[in-house]
Amino acid sequence: MSSVSVSQDESFSVDEPLLPVSGGDLTVPLVDGGHTPYVNLDYAASAPCLRAVAARVEALLPYSASVHRGAGYASQVCTALFESAREDVRRFIGGRAGDSVVFTRNTTDAVNLLAHCLDHVDTGRPGQGAGGAVVFDVEHHANLLPWQRRPGFRCVPAAPSMAESLAALAAELRARPAALVAVTGASNVPGEVPPIAEIAELAHRHGARLFVDAAQLAPHRRIDMAADGIDYLAFSGHKLYAPFGAGALVGRPDWLDAAPGYLAGGGAVREVTVAGVDWADGPARHEAGTPNLPGVVALAAACRELSALPADRLRRHEERLRGELVEGLTALEGVRVHRIWTDVQDAVGVVTFSLPGHDPALVSACLAAEHGIGVRAGRFCAHPLLARLGVPEGAVRASIGVGSTAADVRRLVGALADYLRSGPRWTYVRRDGQWVPTPDERRLPGWVENIVGRQRVPVGAGTPCGH
Ligand code: PLP
Repeated sequence: MSSVSVSQDESFSVDEPLLPVSGGDLTVPLVDGGHTPYVNLDYAASAPCLRAVAARVEALLPYSASVHRGAGYASQVCTALFESAREDVRRFIGGRAGDSVVFTRNTTDAVNLLAHCLDHVDTGRPGQGAGGAVVFDVEHHANLLPWQRRPGFRCVPAAPSMAESLAALAAELRARPAALVAVTGASNVPGEVPPIAEIAELAHRHGARLFVDAAQLAPHRRIDMAADGIDYLAFSGHKLYAPFGAGALVGRPDWLDAAPGYLAGGGAVREVTVAGVDWADGPARHEAGTPNLPGVVALAAACRELSALPADRLRRHEERLRGELVEGLTALEGVRVHRIWTDVQDAVGVVTFSLPGHDPALVSACLAAEHGIGVRAGRFCAHPLLARLGVPEGAVRASIGVGSTAADVRRLVGALADYLRSGPRWTYVRRDGQWVPTPDERRLPGWVENIVGRQRVPVGAGTPCGH
């Protein structure tokens, strides 16, 4: 088994999780009939819930009642928690005092909301209407498609270096002004972190605002919107150690208040007649319908838990693990670790790699079935970027977080070394576009079978080719 060296000069250990997560002690079945502790290296897709967050949701549930609408005591409790969550979120990402915090379903929803608002922005430039958004071609589809289908959209091809990429962005903005530059805070493929403050300065110099897709940045780094000059920012609860279903869009209220409600319905209005509507100002304008209170409370709790960590502790934990992972992968002959930019050193705990000649979907199926390791294979909802990286067929992604340890990294590197040496030790067949082990006697947990009946594992798992 290939081993990974742990540097001794650090004053803390990465042998333990940084924070306890639900499912941190999960045991999973293997295809050979054995069981093993689960290695979750798929935090970038959806992170496990922090135990403290799960406890907060548990505490909330007895009070479940309407938000904003009820006179009852439980309803007041829910309203207080919902509204105070805005401040937890705003503080967590260093928002300005006047910034709006709008709760959404996730990052995708937040970007679509901002894009809807952009349709109604008057940039004051004659003949240009609302003005479009400019992106690099490295974005997750969530930060590409909402802009792509709007007028004025432009995509700047990223150059091999960030310095050249920024020069190309500046040239594009000089040639034709834009209302918004939309950029990822951290790539969901190689984890690289663009120089946000520099991009904000560049955008502002050319009369554009900056939106940061922080879906991958927020779980890994302290963010300071005000200091970095970020006008808008979005992130998702399910990647930030909270359960699924809640996210946030934070930013300057003028654009948000200039657009009609994103969703038309109750709670978003001041007055309605059969002929028309007077929309509410502030976050409520875009939050029609009953909100996801447990999701929002959980999101706020996760923000508090991460904020309470000593400065830089999260970053250092992940940098150590990422360093060991990259070192372990590059030591394996034939493994290629992907990068976008040659001159960007900073990266979060998201690492994408290829084993040339090996189908990434088969590698990930083998890691799950034979080793109990969860990674993701595919194109990571970033098709243009995977094409640019020269792997249009997809790759494998391992991602870490507060529940990850050096042992997790060692298990992955060891399993890949074994795979490269001997190939899969089980038989796999292609079924519905996925590799599945055969035979496979693994069962779902008893309580799940009681609900869904007896089903094969994987149950539509793996990665359909469009992802
Ligand atoms: N942006 C990035 C960089 C992502 O990695 C993801 C999800 O993987 C998204 C946006 C979309 O997040 P969500 O699915 O929570 O809307």
